[in-house]
Amino acid sequence: MRSKPLHKRIYLRVLIVAISFVFLLNPLHAQSAAKKNFVVVLDAGHGGKDPGCDPNCNRYGFYEKKIALSITLKIGKLLEQYNDIEVVYTRTSDVYVDLLKRANIANKSDADLFISIHCDSFTSSKAYGAGTFVLGLHANQRNFEVAKRENSVIFYEEDYEKKYDGFDPNSPESVISLTLMQETYSNQSIEAADKIQKSFVTNLGRKDRTVKQAGFVVLKYTYMPSVLVETGFLTNKKEGVYLNSKKGQGEMSNAIAQAIINYKQSLEEGVVNQKLINTDTNRNPTVKPVREGRNEIRFRVQLAASKKPIETKPYNFKGIKNVMRSKEGGFFKYYIGNTTSYKEIQREKNRARKAGFNTAFIVSFRGNKKIKLSEALDAVR
Ligand SMILES: [Zn+2]
Repeated sequence: MRSKPLHKRIYLRVLIVAISFVFLLNPLHAQSAAKKNFVVVLDAGHGGKDPGCDPNCNRYGFYEKKIALSITLKIGKLLEQYNDIEVVYTRTSDVYVDLLKRANIANKSDADLFISIHCDSFTSSKAYGAGTFVLGLHANQRNFEVAKRENSVIFYEEDYEKKYDGFDPNSPESVISLTLMQETYSNQSIEAADKIQKSFVTNLGRKDRTVKQAGFVVLKYTYMPSVLVETGFLTNKKEGVYLNSKKGQGEMSNAIAQAIINYKQSLEEGVVNQKLINTDTNRNPTVKPVREGRNEIRFRVQLAASKKPIETKPYNFKGIKNVMRSKEGGFFKYYIGNTTSYKEIQREKNRARKAGFNTAFIVSFRGNKKIKLSEALDAVR
């Protein structure tokens, strides 16, 4: 990776923090937003000048780009039969679409789920089975190799270093930066991936390669739960013949479509539960106005914000107790801690981050009025 001038790197970091702030600040709201249709983006891997796994795969005459497209279109046909499901494709023919554009298509359609369809390959022809991936750190060399192969399509683009923020598919370290954006959706991504994987195993008796995490560029830029499916190994002749056949493609698309429908249903059940919780708001402790010492500086940690009120029970806040809710402007804000000690509030912030509120931050008040942290620190020093 070419190193960038310092100011550019700082700018990039600030940008990433700013973007993730916007998306991570409001996770509760994101989950409870009501939408008419369930939008699923189906992404057939590769296409056009990029044939997909090559040359190992086509020694038997199989082409990843063709099989991926065929399975993808079949999944779409099945899902389009449902009135409340909207299907968006990143490609419907043999054309090259770069990874950023694929993610942009998904983001623009404000999709609920992104599914990328691929075929696997391996040096040994013995490897077989279907696998599902969500974005994460590679747990092992094999997962890294899969991601590296799928990510290498960015070499088709001259300006890939600039376009993908200096990402280098060959560097395991480069992938760590990938995980930031998808963190918000990782639970839902894993749930969707798990449903697809289970569907392969129980409906089709495919070998269970389980849900794995690895750093896929195409999953990095999507702002929604996202899963990459490796439908099977084209380097395994038997599996290649299956995936290349009408029967195999029909069965695979059926299994994936069924899993998507299951995922949608479980999501809807979750939303219903959330609504029930929301109606029961009277017993919430709210932020108590500070009566004594009206100009006293106090610190709190903000965990999250939501448009609709969420009950401040530990199960809604990753097990954290004594969450306080406060209505500010059009939002409900959720805090822990209420102390005059900056040291103590830092401990609270660390506790929140450890629990999974990665963007928890310290806010400061003078009396009941929120003030800048720098102002508060000046005042207490
Ligand atoms: Zn692929």
